[in-house]
Parts: sequence; structure tokens; C-alpha cells
Amino acid sequence: MNVGHSKAVVVVGAGPAGLLAAIAAARQGARVQVLEQMDRPGLKLLASGGGRCNLTNTLPAADYPARFGRQGRFLAPSLTACGPDRLREFFAELGVRTHSPDGFHVYPVTDSAATVLAALLQELERCAVPVRLGMKVTSLVYAVGNLQGVRAAGAAIPAEAVVLAAGGCSYPELGGTGGGYALAQAAGHALVAPVPALVPLVTRETWPGELAGVSLAQARLELDLPRRSRPAVQGALLFTHRGLSGPAVLDLSGAVAELLAQGSVAPLRLSLLPGASAASLHGLMGLWHSAQGRRSVARLLAEEGLPQALARSVVRLAGLAADRTAAQLTASERRALVGCLTACPLTVTATEGFARAMVTRGGVALREVAPATLASRKMPGLFFAGEVLDLDGPCGGFNLQWAFASGWLAGRRAAQAS
Ligand SMILES: Cc1cc2nc3c(=O)[nH]c(=O)nc-3n(C[C@H](O)[C@H](O)[C@H](O)COP(=O)(O)OP(=O)(O)OC[C@H]3O[C@@H](n4cnc5c(N)ncnc54)[C@H](O)[C@@H]3O)c2cc1C
Repeated sequence: MNVGHSKAVVVVGAGPAGLLAAIAAARQGARVQVLEQMDRPGLKLLASGGGRCNLTNTLPAADYPARFGRQGRFLAPSLTACGPDRLREFFAELGVRTHSPDGFHVYPVTDSAATVLAALLQELERCAVPVRLGMKVTSLVYAVGNLQGVRAAGAAIPAEAVVLAAGGCSYPELGGTGGGYALAQAAGHALVAPVPALVPLVTRETWPGELAGVSLAQARLELDLPRRSRPAVQGALLFTHRGLSGPAVLDLSGAVAELLAQGSVAPLRLSLLPGASAASLHGLMGLWHSAQGRRSVARLLAEEGLPQALARSVVRLAGLAADRTAAQLTASERRALVGCLTACPLTVTATEGFARAMVTRGGVALREVAPATLASRKMPGLFFAGEVLDLDGPCGGFNLQWAFASGWLAGRRAAQAS
């Protein structure tokens, strides 16, 4: 630790990005304080992973950029500074051992997000970094184009560097108030319009609502856009009262939300048995006809792995009577059934909004932020970390890994910058 240096650094936001930024800056010898608008730090971190905190995953850092889409390369320097392995080591050093029960998702061994937050706060205490609660930063203070500090709760707080780690718009009650965007814009930064991501979808069709609570371990979903690339995902799906949720749906939801923001609806194709092609399903129905002709189609579908309630819905959606048997299926009924199983059409009319979105897509435009330092290209002394930036990943620990890693890099660089 370089104790000789005592640069004043203010971190805006006590989420995972801000807490790591503060620790990193303090370990560089800076005088750091964290300003948090809520009356508790790390509220979203506490809620993460259903309270278990899926803090990263076992993928190598090199595989991350592709998971963050078009702009994924931006996160490479952050992951070089604090990739998944380094993050687990860092937490182990703080006394938080981690495990991966399924070989992919990584959690603290206590399976409690509170352990993670407590360790971070304890480390901040050890580094003599105050976390000042109820301190909403309302403006950045500049003089002749140089950052001088921030205003919070009516007071001017001087700082030579500011790390803006104020998160996005998701879950307002956990601090996702989008307050960081206005601060960035006032500093001259462009904003990519925020939309909800990792959010359940609302369908025009009402049949998913009749299956609320039913889940599928594997489904495939494709955005059905004529003459455009068709984002697709495969994984677990959950029917809800208003439409669809579950990891596969959440992962596609950002792309859906972008489309909805353009004023259109989002047509989806849902494959309920993603391992089976249309040809193999026709073959299967031929076998049913010859060997199990007296059995009901709904029962046979359930034996292929569809939950019974869903199998009954599929039979109805294909226009068949509930007790239709395999032997009674006509050629056109088989085609209708195969169509429902492989490419069931659904229309998404809305998402469940920022109130239910785990992350925000959009935010501070990346072109005005240097990926190697996370420094503003507009305002010397200003740094960014975490969800406030226009970068979001899929489910599975990617977003916390990004928040922690970018916080680490931004905090170090904020402490070092002259
Ligand atoms: C329910 C839920 C579960 C999740 N589970 C997971 C998971 O298991 N794994 C995963 O990888 N990701 C998960 N996420 C996403 C993850 O929590 C976020 O990506 C992450 O918290 C972003 O970190 P951040 O520090 O950038 O922002 P935040 O955690 O949002 O922190 C920003 C902080 O800044 C404060 N703030 C905002 N404006 C101001 C201001 N003007 N002045 C002062 N303070 C301000 C806010 O109050 C907030 O405390 C989950 C999200 C939710 C909502």
C-alpha cells in the first residue's frame, strides 16, 4: 500500500461497483469516502441471486466479452484487472470462501449475500473509508473544466477524483433511481436510452398465464424478425401470470425491450422441445400411431418431457380435442402439433418494467469512456463503474462480475490519476 499518497476520491454509490472502487482506491493510499443515497449500503447486492449472491461464474475471462454482445470488448481491461479467478481470490482474502455447486454459478459458501456485503464493509472499515448513508449526490462540481468534487445533501464535498458507480434504473426501491445518468450528462456525456433487461415479458396471448408457475428445463426462444438477425436463447423457461420468465426469457428480454422501445411489439417463436426437429417429431408421431394409437396425444407429449398442463395446452393450441388419440391424428393435425412444439408464436407487448428488471440496458455511452482506465473522455477526474455504463450481461453472475471488476479498475485508476 502506498500510504504516502493522499488523493481525495469520492465514490458515488455503495453498490458492488462502488464498494470495490472504494477498496481499490483506498489500497492505493487515497483518502476515500463513499456517498450513498439510501439509508443502507448494497441493497441490490443483498437481493442478488435470490439472496444467495451469484457473484461470478466459472467461465474464463476470455469468454466474457462475447456474452456482453456488440460492445463486449469494452470489459476486457476490467477483467484483466479483476477477472473471475482474481475476484474469488479477493473474496477469499476477505474471508469469503466461494463455491460452485453446479460447476458454473459461483456463490459464497454461506449461500448468503449478506456475507459478501459484510466482508466488503469490514474491509472498508479497515481501510478507514467512511460509507456515508442518506447522501444523495445532486451534482458534480467543476471549475474551469476541472472536477472539484460533488454536492450531496446540500454540502459541497471536495474531491480530486470521482467514481460514478450509481447503477441504473432497475429496482428503484433498491436504489436503482437512474440518478447517475443526469450527473454524467451534466458532465457532457451522451446517454444510450435505458431500457429494462433481465426482465419478465408480458404476452398478448393469455394461455401462458393459465400455466403460471409451470416451468420447462429447456426451451428455445427466438425473436422472430423478418429480414433481420434473430437473437435466440435456450434454457429454462417459466410461465407467469402475465407471460414468460426464467433464465432464457430474461436473457432475451433486453433485445425485446429495445424493440418495444421503438414502438413495435416483439414476435417470438417458442420451441418447447428444443432437442427435437420437426422431422423427428413427425417420425415420433408415426411411431405413436403404430405402437400407441389408443393413447391420448396429451399423455404422450407429457412422456416426452412436457409438464402435463403444458401438454394439454399444446393439444388445445393445435386445435385438437383434449382426448384426441395418436391414431386419430390427421396429417394436418400432426403438422399443427409439430408447429406448436417447434415454433409456437407469441407476441410480447411489454416487459414488466424497471420495477422487475434485474439490470438496465443502456446508460452512459461507452465511446466517451476509456476502457483501459474507465476515465471520462469528457471530464478529467471523472471515472465510471458498473451498471451506470451502457453494458449489460446475461443471467449467471456476469453482471456482478462486471460491477466488481469495473469498480476495481476505476477505483485504482481514480486513485492514481494526476
Ligand atoms: C433482484 C436482483 C437480483 C440480482 N441477482 C444477480 C445475481 O445473482 N448475479 C449477478 O451477476 N447480478 C445480479 N443482479 C444484477 C446486479 O445486482 C447489478 O448488476 C449490480 O448490483 C450493479 O452494481 P452497481 O454497483 O453498478 O449498481 P447498484 O448495485 O445499483 O448500486 C448503485 C448504488 O448507487 C446508489 N446511488 C444512485 N444514485 C445515487 C446518487 N445520486 N447519490 C448517491 N448514491 C446513489 C444507489 O442507491 C445504489 O446503492 C441482480 C439484480 C437484482 C435487482
